[in-house]
Amino acid sequence: MCGIIGYLGPRPAAAVVINGLRRLEYRGYDSAGLAILREGRILVQRAIGKLSNLEAKLQAEPDLLTASHTVGIGHTRWATHGGVTEHNAHPHLNDAGSVAVIHNGIVENFVELKAALEGEGVRFRSETDTEVIPHLVDLFMKDGMSFERAAFAAIGRLRGSNAVVMMCAEAPDTLIAARLGNAGGIVIGLGEGEHFVASDVPGILEYTRRVIFLDDGEVAVVRLDGLDVRRLDGTPVEKRAHIIPWDPVSAEKGEYRHFMQKEIFEQARAITDTLRGRVNFQTGAVHLEQLALDEANRPARIHTVACGSSFHAGLVGRFYIERIARVPVEVDYGSEYRYRDPLIAPDTVVLGITQSGETADTLAAMSAGRERGAPAWAIVNAVGAQAERLASGVIHMRAGPEIGVCSTKTFLTSIVDQYLLACALAQSAHTAEDEQSYALARALAHLPGLVSRMLDDDPIYQELANRFHNREHFLFLGRGVNYPIALEGALKLKEISYIHAEGYPAGEMKHGPIALIDEKMPVVCVAVRDNVYEKMISQIEQVKARGGTVIAVATEGDDFIRGKADYVIEVPPAEALLTPVLTAIPMQRLAYEMAVRLGCDVDQPRNLAKSVTVE
Ligand code: GLU
Repeated sequence: MCGIIGYLGPRPAAAVVINGLRRLEYRGYDSAGLAILREGRILVQRAIGKLSNLEAKLQAEPDLLTASHTVGIGHTRWATHGGVTEHNAHPHLNDAGSVAVIHNGIVENFVELKAALEGEGVRFRSETDTEVIPHLVDLFMKDGMSFERAAFAAIGRLRGSNAVVMMCAEAPDTLIAARLGNAGGIVIGLGEGEHFVASDVPGILEYTRRVIFLDDGEVAVVRLDGLDVRRLDGTPVEKRAHIIPWDPVSAEKGEYRHFMQKEIFEQARAITDTLRGRVNFQTGAVHLEQLALDEANRPARIHTVACGSSFHAGLVGRFYIERIARVPVEVDYGSEYRYRDPLIAPDTVVLGITQSGETADTLAAMSAGRERGAPAWAIVNAVGAQAERLASGVIHMRAGPEIGVCSTKTFLTSIVDQYLLACALAQSAHTAEDEQSYALARALAHLPGLVSRMLDDDPIYQELANRFHNREHFLFLGRGVNYPIALEGALKLKEISYIHAEGYPAGEMKHGPIALIDEKMPVVCVAVRDNVYEKMISQIEQVKARGGTVIAVATEGDDFIRGKADYVIEVPPAEALLTPVLTAIPMQRLAYEMAVRLGCDVDQPRNLAKSVTVE
């Protein structure tokens, strides 16, 4: 969950590290810290809270920020072991201060390692699991090992899923980075006479787009003059360099106040990008470049595994795949799938949906499927991420970097990608009933235009936010393909504005939630003109009869609903199956406006982190 940066090269390392951390701060923001090696000494600075606190501290040491030819590492923490204090902030050091370590994940055997180290007389300064690592390295070096060998030996002692980066005063031209399990990625940026290490691509994108990704069990020994990747047992690994297609500017906030706001407004472009080259708009034929489909490998059923917003996207996708391709779909939380010991019939594919491609629970679910013989497919945004490497078929969301913790454009693109998948699956079956998939795919041509209309200035969001931002509870209702959008609406509001919200399939209201409704309860009802429209109207009547306030998300020109609801947010008419892509946008805009009014930290909501790489 944390952000990791490392640098080795002629630039001022502290400046590169701070810059990278700023771009990764969305990953964790309990505390931040860096270690810089200069003239044989490791200098450390740490601060709790946001990165700006660390930057303020560094102002007192201007020459640290400008000194070049240094090695440096930095970290933003998302605490798992030990409170949010300065002494728990990373980097952690050995007693002599000669080995500095930053870490993402959980050292599962830290209690046992710590006891053994204490038995050797080591004094611990923090409550973190991380601190065992520098002490282990130190101990092995005292036994006569070089830094490199000691690092391999120490990493080999760690259990659990961990990403680790370390440096040593005695090896001033070396950084060591390791990835064990799925706790988080390590990407190494290849420059000219310099190298970068990061937990995520945006951290180094402004310096290089040529990168390699470490896989589970790999350790990179990064030196000024080159790089060498080995498995923990020392076997060398040939790595392929990837070129990241994103431009660095897309990871900047530009004229927007928040990344989330920028990312909302980028959605029409993100959808155009995810469609590009995949649909022949004349014929409706769909081609997914990294997911070859034919009658032979067409799955008989799909198990979708995902977390958070991606889970909601998976619920929308189930409608698509079942309706368009007639392939049965089950959707599970990544964190639950393997614990129900899933029954995997032959010809099942496990489809993981993950923005980062590093979500630990989703990766574990994909692996659980693979262990039971099901191939994995992935819908993923981060190119080259672990989910992609686990999968035999991939659809890239092509949403560009998403920095706001709250997912917006990747939610929409992952829905569209499942629509493409459904059409491609239908078309690979070559049966008469699959004709409709060609017409449905052609309907996608209108989607970017419809999405961009949803992004027009609309005073309704200001009005609603002004009126309702002080309410304590919200209810979101939807039905059919828009039911997952009600769930997503509630999640968006909770996560960035901390207002309690529940999302429900509208038909379930009478089985419980209706008891909550009174004049203090705003109810957002997604009620576009589709096959469940009339049912939604009767739900609206029921809410009104109990004094609730109804905010309807309805089809443009629907005067009838205006007579029923208190407020109406309009959505242009569209192919019914595609309406979730449109109705999701008012959920995002409403949550955003509310959170801003409440003074919440929209891009970095409390307790959350963008990629959840711990279980
Ligand atoms: N387990 C470590 C800690 O609590 C690392 C947490 C992280 O990934 O930021 O400090």
